[in-house]
Amino acid sequence: MNSPPMLELLQTLVSHESPSRDKPSLDRLGSLLAEMLRERGGMVEKIANSEGGDHVLARFPGPDKLRPALVLGHFDTVWPLGTLATMPFRMENRRVYGPGTYDMKAGLTIFLDAIAERIKNRPRPIWALFTSDEEIGSPTSRALIEDLARQCAFALVLEPPMADGSLKTARKGVGRYVLAVEGKAAHAGVAPGEGRNAIVELAHQILNIQKLQDLEAGTTLNVGVIRGGTTTNVVPASALAEVDVRSTSMAEAERIDRSLRSLETVTPGTRLSISGGFNRPPMERSPAISGLFEQARRIGRSLGLELTEGSTGGGSDGNFTAAAGLPTLDGLGVLGHGAHALDEHIVIESLTERSALLAALLSELQVES
Ligand SMILES: [Zn+2]
Repeated sequence: MNSPPMLELLQTLVSHESPSRDKPSLDRLGSLLAEMLRERGGMVEKIANSEGGDHVLARFPGPDKLRPALVLGHFDTVWPLGTLATMPFRMENRRVYGPGTYDMKAGLTIFLDAIAERIKNRPRPIWALFTSDEEIGSPTSRALIEDLARQCAFALVLEPPMADGSLKTARKGVGRYVLAVEGKAAHAGVAPGEGRNAIVELAHQILNIQKLQDLEAGTTLNVGVIRGGTTTNVVPASALAEVDVRSTSMAEAERIDRSLRSLETVTPGTRLSISGGFNRPPMERSPAISGLFEQARRIGRSLGLELTEGSTGGGSDGNFTAAAGLPTLDGLGVLGHGAHALDEHIVIESLTERSALLAALLSELQVES
């Protein structure tokens, strides 16, 4: 088919605002994407989701003695409805600005372009899954992604690349925990001895938590939120801390999880409870992933591109496919800057380059089975 120019496609996608928690908006964009995928020859299925936007899965046929290639993208953004009024889609200095351009409507755009125009023969089927909840940790799409991962040969993820364009071959796992302390309230002046100060106990625990960090191993813990107490003349009966945890390996994720669950109180008469866990396992750079990257590098050279690779502390749905054992390359999206920031933009000339790269990878990557 004659696909419209990529800038036009991108503008259409960006003009449909799609915050992760707004089902009507997500479903409008999801339906549009489904239609675009269908026009390009995909057999499209909408996966109903009562808790958020329906997910969109398109299957493009190919010789089915080989397992499919899985392409992953998300069409939700972090931007609330109405953002376009103050942050419109605009072109300036060979860049395109606007909410969700870089993360990751430009990624969806290059796939729509590649599948319409550039992939002449498919050595295997291509399955493209566009999800609606990546920015909130993929609560409703995770099982679906893992299920598809078990059926496919490799995964390509349309998230933005590293700042210099490098593909992402490793990502940290991401955990989120809440530590709650229960103490006992008392009048701070009249009966201080009867109270059990939950904030003091929390302060001890925050220092304990920080000691679990191991920067050399790539493990970080960030107590990012604390809350507690009611007013100054009351010994506080409750306090809590919210903790972000990142690790490069499963072993470290398990060490942190174990340690957090076995924290012990310092202040007599208080109680600790911990909830949460790792919601994205680490994407470890396995031999299969480095092998896939080596192939990508050779394929890139044939297009005149010198591909490099990098790792990041941010998670994506690639964490799920990699942890399920599927060789995964991430960061195949378009060059730009400012994900989740007011100056979010992509570099226009990168659209064509990255669409060509994606098409070449889907045409030429070889994985046994
Ligand atoms: Zn993203």
